[in-house]
Amino acid sequence: MITHKKRILTGDTPTGKLHLGHYVGSVENRLALQDEYDCFFIIANKHAFTTRAERPDEIRTSVIEIATDYLACGIDPNKSCMFVQSEVPAIDELTFFFAMLIPFNRVMRNPTLAQEIKDKDLGDKYPFGFPMYAVGQTADILAFRPELVPVGEDQLPHLELTREVARRFDQIYCGVDSHTEDKDYITAGGLFPVIQPKLGRVTRLVGIGAPSADGNLLKMSKSLNNAIFLSDGADVVQKKVMSMYTDPKRITGKEPGETSPDKNPLWAFHETFNTDKAWVDEYRARYAAGTVGDVPVKRKLVEVLNTLIDPIRTRRQHFEQRPDDVIDALRIGTKKANAVAEVTLALAKKAMKQDFFPRTLTLT
Ligand code: ATP
Ligand code: MG
Repeated sequence: MITHKKRILTGDTPTGKLHLGHYVGSVENRLALQDEYDCFFIIANKHAFTTRAERPDEIRTSVIEIATDYLACGIDPNKSCMFVQSEVPAIDELTFFFAMLIPFNRVMRNPTLAQEIKDKDLGDKYPFGFPMYAVGQTADILAFRPELVPVGEDQLPHLELTREVARRFDQIYCGVDSHTEDKDYITAGGLFPVIQPKLGRVTRLVGIGAPSADGNLLKMSKSLNNAIFLSDGADVVQKKVMSMYTDPKRITGKEPGETSPDKNPLWAFHETFNTDKAWVDEYRARYAAGTVGDVPVKRKLVEVLNTLIDPIRTRRQHFEQRPDDVIDALRIGTKKANAVAEVTLALAKKAMKQDFFPRTLTLT
């Protein structure tokens, strides 16, 4: 059933499981907003093929893992709709039309694509579908004509492209004046809203690994082997934290320690997850003075992270034993996603004067 609440669209690529970066970058917002908005969470399985087309089994497994993570985090399938991208054909159809509205060079100038090519070492061997995914993402979003899109900061260039597509479509096919303010595109007769990003509490959580060659800490990422996953066991969390990169010059009692969260992930994590601010202030001062070493600060972090992850882990175990419930949540969500996306596509085709025949889509 299509309701009249405002909509949210966001999602994840099934290239692994959800990690702490997803939690603070996007999932927290999703949980906070799922009562107020009609939420659509896309599991973008076709985008996973950009880097692992030869590993379809992994992608399939990851779709289920991510859906299980959603449920474990507290996303309620009776309120929110989680769905599989490749089962919503209207998205592909919009992608083709939208691809005609963006210059090729504009897509290639997207800094997130450039960063991914670098971080994931794709060189010049990436498939044609790799830049195509940035265009596809504009359709993932606009198919739902959402009000808000909760994301981490790496997604902002993609969202800017989406805003450009919406403006261009509305101007060309719906007669919206190019001087219209972004917030007024719908009242001016546009089909697509010029969407707003909604950044999380932390817009870019760093990973647990050493900095890259340019000296910057990489973002926590499923594909970069630097993540703490929401499904990691307590012992795995402990192992990852105790071997986390910190400050190589740091020797207890001899050198002051680096406490900047851009340089030392240990402090990025305490700042983000430790709710005992007095502890953080005290230990940060001692670490900076060289009177406390990594070990107690890491031990505390293990405690803090396991307190956050424990209830998620417990709920996850519940759903891991009920794979049919996970599939059902996806099936129901995908049906609802299709209902909305089909309406959008029909309206878009009408605006583009390509509405030759009516159609209905059946999903069993
Ligand atoms: P991949 O390595 O396959 O690109 P990823 O870890 O970057 O995976 P995505 O599926 O690309 O995860 O991102 C899903 C959402 O989570 C996006 O909104 C993204 O901005 C957000 N996100 C991902 N990593 C972080 C992070 N480290 N900090 C904050 N937000 C993040
Ligand atoms: Mg990513």
